[in-house]
Amino acid sequence: MIYRQIAEILQESSYVVCLSGREMIVEDGISSMRNMETAYSIEMQYDYSPEELFSAQFFSTRAETFYEFYRSEVLNQAKAEPGVSFQALAELEKMGILKATISRQLFDFPKLAGCQNVYDLHGNIYEKNRCPRCGREYSMEYLRDAKKVPLCEKCRVPIHPGVTLLGEMIDIGRMTKAAEEVSKADTLLLAGAYMKSEMAQQFLKYYKGHNVILIHSGTAHGDRDADYFISEQAKVALPAIIEELKAIRAAQGDREEMKSADAE
Ligand SMILES: [Zn+2]
Repeated sequence: MIYRQIAEILQESSYVVCLSGREMIVEDGISSMRNMETAYSIEMQYDYSPEELFSAQFFSTRAETFYEFYRSEVLNQAKAEPGVSFQALAELEKMGILKATISRQLFDFPKLAGCQNVYDLHGNIYEKNRCPRCGREYSMEYLRDAKKVPLCEKCRVPIHPGVTLLGEMIDIGRMTKAAEEVSKADTLLLAGAYMKSEMAQQFLKYYKGHNVILIHSGTAHGDRDADYFISEQAKVALPAIIEELKAIRAAQGDREEMKSADAE
């Protein structure tokens, strides 16, 4: 029943924005550094925590270890693919309901699934891998396949990956545009995210709409702050909502056909 109710809200909304959280990529098989076990095994292997390894300071002082880590823990996961939850977002966008998707994940899943208007707040592994000296851009494959530190062919300096490292400023322009999208929204979809997560907290202050729809498995502190909470994996809930939406639209289409038949 809740899926029907959410579908009705989405159908009546004029501007829906989605904050796509970490749980969505974990459901698709990405192992997150924020997971305790993953973090522990990384620390065992490299003698540093993921936070230290993934930092601007580490990149600039120990590029070789940084790239060893970045290749095996991040780029090697690029073979994973966006699943049904991201396809559902792309479909929602095609239906004209979803206007923007905001994410802090690095794997570009919303776009790979077909979403057009995406704000990757922390960049992604495919774009803007740049030489800090001349600005030349390199592909993800170039970074992944380099034997040691991927160097700019011209300047011979380490290429900076196209993602925001800890200790670096996030792209202010991108952040501003994402905040603008949220401020235009009448419905906010928090998928695979939590009310108390950093991303939600960052954007809820710009939100002026009526419905916050929260979807994640289990329960968490702050769930009650959402107007609607679905305690379910996004990969289950989002496709179910799409099915309901299609049913609503089909029924509306039937009614309109009958009306125009009456008019003739
Ligand atoms: Zn260069």
